[in-house]
Amino acid sequence: MGSNSPPTLHFAIFPFLSQGHIIPLLHLSRLLHLRSAAVTIFTTASNSPPIRAALSDTKISVVDLPFPQNTPGVPPGVENTQNLLYESSFVPFANSTKLMQKSFESALENLHPPLSCIISDSFLGFTLQSANKFSVPRFGFFGMGAFSSTMYETLGREKPHSASADLDEAFPMPGFPGIMLTRNDFDPPFNAAAPEGPYVDFMKEQMAALAKSDGLIVNTFYEMERSYVDCWDQKIGPKMYCIGPLCSAAPPPRTAAAHFRFLDEKLAEGKPVLYVAFGTQAEVSPEQLREIAIGLERSEVSFLWVLKAETVEFLTDFEIRVRERGIVVRGWVDQVEALKHEGVRGFLSHCGWNSVLEGIAGGVPILAMPFMAEQHLNARLVAEELGVGIRAMPRGGSVRGLVAAEEVERAVRELMGGERGAEARRRMLELGEAARGAVVEGGSSVRALDLLIDEMRLRTDILPRV
Ligand code: UDP
Repeated sequence: MGSNSPPTLHFAIFPFLSQGHIIPLLHLSRLLHLRSAAVTIFTTASNSPPIRAALSDTKISVVDLPFPQNTPGVPPGVENTQNLLYESSFVPFANSTKLMQKSFESALENLHPPLSCIISDSFLGFTLQSANKFSVPRFGFFGMGAFSSTMYETLGREKPHSASADLDEAFPMPGFPGIMLTRNDFDPPFNAAAPEGPYVDFMKEQMAALAKSDGLIVNTFYEMERSYVDCWDQKIGPKMYCIGPLCSAAPPPRTAAAHFRFLDEKLAEGKPVLYVAFGTQAEVSPEQLREIAIGLERSEVSFLWVLKAETVEFLTDFEIRVRERGIVVRGWVDQVEALKHEGVRGFLSHCGWNSVLEGIAGGVPILAMPFMAEQHLNARLVAEELGVGIRAMPRGGSVRGLVAAEEVERAVRELMGGERGAEARRRMLELGEAARGAVVEGGSSVRALDLLIDEMRLRTDILPRV
């Protein structure tokens, strides 16, 4: 670079140690890198190999920080929440990441070109102190969308649920006429009238750091979540930068995996496929897996079901019985690619936020079956607010509980062949179009990212001030 060229911006990106947080931030790194910024990703040794492999076609740097050892409550050797029992170990795991502050800051000292900005997962609140030490801006990143973020904050601040003792009693959300939620739409302990405990304390700390940050980067697009983004910006803050769907920056797959042949075959036979996947985090009970298997078998649709590595015995017989029309893949499927495949016409999903956006980007209507975290709110957004999916519901009117095989069968048939499924598909195609419009030149997400970069340039005095 010549001596008159402006210095290069350098973004330090620190994702929380969960697949659902790492993946979108890798996509964001690519987008920043494409805009000529230097990017360094911070992670730990055991998370690093897949990150390095995913970025091997770029000049993005990856720095491995030592993961804190011997933390009570964190199983030895675990450096990613997908290998944790979430309920018992998440909080000690999340709290232990604070011990990475020192090594993070030592590494920041050595960045070339020098650090311009920290983009930190909002779960890593300590990076606010690092940003202050280095006098650079800090942007938080949420693994969640604007609807769920705004609903959680509104619940915490305005307590519309305080009078409802019953977890399934619906109450109106203040500021959002027409939106009725229940305490069961929110994860415990946050759905209590006066939430308390270590998880609540941890989140309070992270939200306090976020409030003092320069902005919040969200993997969504403005047109889809306009009213929730506006509410966040006006009443909560800091300002949301909606720059998604980030999966649009995913590189094409390098190898064609065998299960894609199955999708090709079904497409050639004219048999629409239901893609079934519940993400990297949800612990789906063997009873629930059995009900899903029975429901899928009875529905008679073709399907590709991605399961986490562990297996359940009854599935072996199931796989033999359904092999003409369904396959179970244990391990990793390139989900973004699968959802783009023409043969995939429905997505039975836990409604993790990345999965929702990937379904939208692929134009594939969603059959929502949430389990944990903010997934119940994402399911509400998908089915009730956007109308791009339908729900498989537990018995008895609650949004939580076992979803029986009959309901799985009914909902799968409805999504793949019924009138409501057809309506959801029509709306999903429209929303998919809007999502693509957001990430092309001049689109809202591209403009939001350009704005963020311009602001960084101004702050680092790279652009002359007017
Ligand atoms: N994913 C994938 N292949 C798999 C399992 C997961 O590509 O076999 C990706 C998926 O595309 C998504 C992420 O892992 O980007 C999971 O994030 P999500 O927010 O949907 O769910 P979580 O795992 O956080 O519950």
